[in-house]
Amino acid sequence: MGNKYDTILIRYGELSTKGKNRKDFIKRLELNLKNALRNYPNLTYQRTFDRIYIKLTDENPDELKEIISKVFGISSFSFTEKVKSDLDVIKEACLNYAKSMNEPKTFKVITRRHDKSFPLNSDGINRAVASDILKNTNHKVDVHHPDFSIQIEVREEDTYITSEKIPGAGGYPTGINGKVLLLLSGGIDSPVAAYELMKRGLEVEAIHYASPPYTSENAKQKVLDLASLISVYQGSMRVNVVNFTDLQLEIYKAVGDSYAITIMRRMMFRIAERYAKAHNCLAIATGESIGQVASQTLESMSVINEVINIPVIRPLVCMDKLEIINLAKKINTYELSILPFEDCCTIFDPKNPVTKPKSDKCYELEERFDYESLIEQCMQNIDNIVVYSKEKKESFL
Ligand code: ATP
Ligand code: MG
Repeated sequence: MGNKYDTILIRYGELSTKGKNRKDFIKRLELNLKNALRNYPNLTYQRTFDRIYIKLTDENPDELKEIISKVFGISSFSFTEKVKSDLDVIKEACLNYAKSMNEPKTFKVITRRHDKSFPLNSDGINRAVASDILKNTNHKVDVHHPDFSIQIEVREEDTYITSEKIPGAGGYPTGINGKVLLLLSGGIDSPVAAYELMKRGLEVEAIHYASPPYTSENAKQKVLDLASLISVYQGSMRVNVVNFTDLQLEIYKAVGDSYAITIMRRMMFRIAERYAKAHNCLAIATGESIGQVASQTLESMSVINEVINIPVIRPLVCMDKLEIINLAKKINTYELSILPFEDCCTIFDPKNPVTKPKSDKCYELEERFDYESLIEQCMQNIDNIVVYSKEKKESFL
């Protein structure tokens, strides 16, 4: 080991499903991995019942580690040395590894023996390897808090010797659970919602409402850049930019200050539902969180939700702002999200938005103008833009 890593061993995540689902999970994970690592054409892949092995040539392990740790569906992974399933060979490889550590340190050997025909059992292998290290180095055994551990997996053909277990991103392979349409703003919350959705195995397509010239080209570019940052988890993302100006101006003219946001959000939901149903998205999603702003009280959410008939996923609904901000920092979107560009909600920011809107009142206000044809106009005016994660050129979904 040391510099002799030749294989990456990938352990799967939440595999409670069996049969066909399990096969789909593994296949999808392999596909997502291959695409995440598409800039490394010399890697080769092998898929077994419970592992994926990636064979290395001369790639930089740190770069690979960075990329693999962002692929959903992996519980953990390790750089390993593959040797023949032969006790002497295994002992030698482990000793070389132990010698590569500064002495004296404490260590532990952990063996998993999948090949039951191997002459020694797990405990026997642990002892044989450990006593060889004790004899030839100044290291000491500490089974509770070792400075380093050596893990040995004995399979029929080959044995994998690995030191560090690197945590994976968890979740399900992105794309395996269908597609959702996320309402993506330029704020902090909705990019974090995208991350949570992808982690659940959902492919995310985005819809963004822009009101040019009240919202600038820069504000739109910010949303596309956020989409690109978050695309690192699924390769690419389609962002549908709706020209919302005429509808929004009519709303403000027709309904007045206090209900403007509520009606505007009802229109956003209506448009999103229509787009979702026409494009194979099984649900829509938002970055809403209870109580954060006037339109996110339960009363508001219920009145906004009542105009559509499609599931709405709100991954952040019970999270604190601080938790959301920490996640935004982790996924690298925070710095961009806080740049002060106007968005379509802030442009027409009403003084006294209603916090407990009434359903009857909404329908009554909506009768004052022909929103149907304005929605139709929006549907005809959608700009589809596909953004890619910075490292990659092509989509893999
Ligand atoms: P965010 O940080 O995601 O903007 P927020 O706390 O600012 O959220 P709101 O502005 O009320 O809250 O928006 C709530 C949700 O509505 C957003 O998370 C997003 O899903 C959606 N949304 C708001 N504005 C837009 C927009 N211009 N285009 C698309 N979706 C939007
Ligand atoms: Mg916002």
